[in-house]
Amino acid sequence: MAHPVLIAAELQRLLAPEQLVGLDVTWLPTDQPTPAGDYVALVPLLSRWVGGSELKRLPKLKIVANCAVGHDNVDVVAAEMRRVTVTNTPDVLTDATADLAWALILACARHVVPGTELVKSGSWTGWHPELLLGIELRGRTLGLFGAGRIGQAVGRRAVPFGMRVLYTARNPRPDFERESGAIRVEFSRLLKDSDVLSLHAPSVPETKGIINADTLRQMKPGALLINTARGDLIREEALAQALEEGRLGGAGLDVYLEEPAVHARLRAAPRAVLLPHIGSATLEARRQMATIALANVQAVLKGDPPLTPVFG
Ligand code: NAP
Repeated sequence: MAHPVLIAAELQRLLAPEQLVGLDVTWLPTDQPTPAGDYVALVPLLSRWVGGSELKRLPKLKIVANCAVGHDNVDVVAAEMRRVTVTNTPDVLTDATADLAWALILACARHVVPGTELVKSGSWTGWHPELLLGIELRGRTLGLFGAGRIGQAVGRRAVPFGMRVLYTARNPRPDFERESGAIRVEFSRLLKDSDVLSLHAPSVPETKGIINADTLRQMKPGALLINTARGDLIREEALAQALEEGRLGGAGLDVYLEEPAVHARLRAAPRAVLLPHIGSATLEARRQMATIALANVQAVLKGDPPLTPVFG
């Protein structure tokens, strides 16, 4: 008999029929609440909160196969208590997300968005030696807060740009240091020395609000702040204020506190490049994310270990 499973409806076109063999799929659109029932697997998008009450309504659930590497939308403690496996989709989105972080770095450093707006609006009056002067990256310092898969991939891309790399993480990364010349520093030094500060840590209690009025004040004047991690790492009011006051050279953001709502002051802030959470949005990455999520479901339903569990 086919296993009843709930899968985010938005994944349907990324999945091939052979990945769904043996499953009786209910496609669940984002705007519908998680239903109660005898479902044995749930494949949610990161926008779906899966907490204690959702898990309670799914008493037969064996796995939550999150279609993202971050899993802050799942109450993993509640899941572990109910012996529900939680999996994510690491690695396959690392390059896509690191590329996007660099797109934001370059866009901020070289005023790509105002430049495009100037041309498209028809108000460009011609070449001028001081038009949209940006900053040269060679010789500058890239600071990484979090140097896991994505942070390291961003750091490795800094080498051909001629940037020095600093990073803050709880554990040293000797291979990464050898490859990129990166130096592990305290967070206070990361703030003080980075010309570009890029966030790559997960959303956990210790990282929430790590960029706030106080830490923004410690950043180098004119520095760029890049966030492709999670929105709640930044206090958005404080960031908007730093941009309004011209203390930061720019901010490149892909993630926000209350997605899809974006703080009005941030939307209006000068030198803010704002993307709609598209870090992993390449066809290659998205297909592989969906594939891994389904492979995790199939493994757990067969009684095999999951491929990419978030806890043991
Ligand atoms: P990862 O490999 O687990 O790396 C996370 C890094 O953060 C590790 O280096 C970890 O190192 C560090 N870290 C954890 N807690 C920390 C703390 N309290 N203080 C400082 N560093 C801490 O994860 P990843 O694959 O690189 O992904 C990183 C995050 O990017 C994900 O959690 C997700 O939220 C986000 N993401 C966003 C998008 C997007 O679409 N924008 C796409 C993919 C991922 P230590 O344990 O040594 O500290």
